[in-house]
Amino acid sequence: MSIRIFISPAKYVQGKNAIKDIGEYVKVLGEQAVVIADETVWEIAGNDVVEQLKQENIKTEEVLFNGEASKTEIQRIAEIAKKENASVVIGVGGGKTLDTAKAVSDEVQGYTVIVPTTASTDAPTSALSVVYSDEGTFENYRFYNKNPDLVVVDTKIIAGAPQRFLASGIADALATWVEARSVINAGGKAMAGGITTIAGQAIAEKCEETLFQYAHLAYESNKAKSVTPALEAVVEANTLLSGLGFESGGLAAAHAIHNGFTALKGEIHHLTHGEKVAFGTLVQLALENHSIDEIERYLELYISLDLPVTLEDIKLKDVSREDILKVAEAATIETETIHEAFDITAEEVVDAVFAADQYAKAYKEKRNK
Ligand SMILES: [Zn+2]
Repeated sequence: MSIRIFISPAKYVQGKNAIKDIGEYVKVLGEQAVVIADETVWEIAGNDVVEQLKQENIKTEEVLFNGEASKTEIQRIAEIAKKENASVVIGVGGGKTLDTAKAVSDEVQGYTVIVPTTASTDAPTSALSVVYSDEGTFENYRFYNKNPDLVVVDTKIIAGAPQRFLASGIADALATWVEARSVINAGGKAMAGGITTIAGQAIAEKCEETLFQYAHLAYESNKAKSVTPALEAVVEANTLLSGLGFESGGLAAAHAIHNGFTALKGEIHHLTHGEKVAFGTLVQLALENHSIDEIERYLELYISLDLPVTLEDIKLKDVSREDILKVAEAATIETETIHEAFDITAEEVVDAVFAADQYAKAYKEKRNK
């Protein structure tokens, strides 16, 4: 019989000014912490986190993150953590900083604390990192034996971040149910290593429902730098529901196609993870059998959030079939998640990429009439 597996972080805390209590939550874990953040994030949140930790007599070593979740960067920071005898590793920032913190924590077998400063990906809660080359090409997923011990999301900080990040997180979270549903239907395995539990399925479905209800209001709240119930709901959907939903629900084509796109050179590298996933999700929908109403429902939401829906939008206006074949080949390598839900060739992915692009162009034309 197939084994069902569900995994999750030990504690999730979310709210306006949640960072003010971080010292209390961390002191039960350990007394020596390494805090990792990039230059901008030190100003926005890193220094506040350190101040709160000091108030609880937790010793801290502050590390400046170089921007890429690569093997070299992970090794560099792990050496610092070892030297300091740190038992707690705290990542403050966006997806790549958090993925690096998880890897460093794994190297020193410490407690992992995650403080996202944007709701731009579902990386915070999971027991895995995406590792890139120093140049930013997808290399592999790195799995850990546990999820983060603590995730603290301060919605005041999220509301202060540019709305493009929230929209990117919504796009990442919108992929969650699309991918989990296909894995469940195909009887494939989720990232957690087993088939999907009822809990995993319910969370992924609720993620989607929450987004269609509140995503647009949350996006407008973010523009107004205001914490509202809609923003709180969407931050939870982007972070907790999407995080649990993808990890214990399943990843399929949308993320595999995203990973394939990282193999291309050029301007596409300026897009966020979620923006590439938005297009990947449309490609997965084009691979499946959906009505025009269903496809247009997604297109409308993406467009209303200023997310990319065409190849031109992801900076690939005149891309050749050969280049898309490269993307498709990378998306269908043996280890990719696309195989958890699809029996598929690279050629079929190429067709779906161009079809998804054409669906979006046709919808935009219809919408502008
Ligand atoms: Zn993602």
